Amino acid sequence: MTRKFKLERAHARIASKATMFKVLKYLDRRRVETPLLLIDRDKIREKVSLVGSGIRNSRVYYAMKANPDRGVLKLMDSLGMGFEIASEGELNPLRALKVAPDRIISSNPVKSVKFLKAAAKYGLRSFAFDSMEEVEKLARFVPGSNVYIRVAVANEGSEWPLSRKFGVELDIALKLIDYAREKGLNPAGITFHVGSQCLNMYNWDTALYKAKALWEMAEREGVKMSLLNIGGGYPINYTKGVVGVEAIERNIDRIIRDNFPSDIEVMIEPGRSLVGDAGVFVSSVIGKARRGHENWVQIDVGVFNGLMESIGGIKYTYLVENGGGKKKGFTVAGPSCDSFDVMGAEVQMPEPEVGGLMLILSAGAYTTCYASEFNGFPIPKTKII
Ligand SMILES: *Cc1c(COP(=O)(O)O)cnc(C)c1O
Repeated sequence: MTRKFKLERAHARIASKATMFKVLKYLDRRRVETPLLLIDRDKIREKVSLVGSGIRNSRVYYAMKANPDRGVLKLMDSLGMGFEIASEGELNPLRALKVAPDRIISSNPVKSVKFLKAAAKYGLRSFAFDSMEEVEKLARFVPGSNVYIRVAVANEGSEWPLSRKFGVELDIALKLIDYAREKGLNPAGITFHVGSQCLNMYNWDTALYKAKALWEMAEREGVKMSLLNIGGGYPINYTKGVVGVEAIERNIDRIIRDNFPSDIEVMIEPGRSLVGDAGVFVSSVIGKARRGHENWVQIDVGVFNGLMESIGGIKYTYLVENGGGKKKGFTVAGPSCDSFDVMGAEVQMPEPEVGGLMLILSAGAYTTCYASEFNGFPIPKTKII
């Protein structure tokens, strides 16, 4: 069976030609059961070698919440990646892979006691914090460990902001650094997160200058830090081209060189940018309808089983099988009976056929890990190709 998809120049800007070629070849050779997430291992390899290469003294820790698929973790491990984790559920598969504890950090500012005990037992030594309560837990369960304070930074222009939940202002941060030291922890440095899918380069500038101010405040109190953890946030292409990793890192590297000690240790925690554009969802069109003035198309992957981020504003690129004709606007919805299960309105695409396939590009991050079996629709399987 030959599957026909019309690739436009715009599509090649979202998923690379090499990735699309592999996906189409995979679909040509077999009958696939949908929904299915295909992950291009070569794309992940390419991103792993790119991310971090522009920032001196940096080490990359994959934020595994973006895609904790066992195959993905194995690949990351074989490529020598570090890992950023938040829970026992994320520690367990790394333990099974025998990832050395010095390659694992936890930057979730609030960690459960159960997780801290497991982390201590396995030998983790690097943790984020942003409260007195967390300092007390860390001092008790992982005494003497290296801790870094999460500061609040601007998340404007990030499509998935994270700043409302975590991070403190500098005066509080300074008090917490002192408190950590008093409790026998090593206040090693500072962390922030500019927001996920950050399209505003300026967020890194303001975050780094804020970190520099705190660094100097701490130094005046006699605390000499050594670590800057710049979190994640590097964006990928969903429907339009975004600023590349090279340009972002060139800017970050320059600011770090100009404002921090030359022997500073830098941690980077990318999630989305390492796996996002390596993934392509293969879904089936299960129905169409004309309701009011809208053309609706329903597919077997939706908000509840993989495309959750579409309700937060992420817009995906959809590729229609046999779609050569004129485009029109469709409301694209998932399979469930819930009215939240709508991914987008006025999505321009050629007329899809019921029973045909629909590909969704850049679907490797924050998709299957969010999925549930709500309403009886399956969580998509993952296949690494
Ligand atoms: C989610 C998260 C990341 C990864 O963010 P991306 O935007 O996917 O790169 C990194 N660090 C922390 C602490 C996070 O919570």
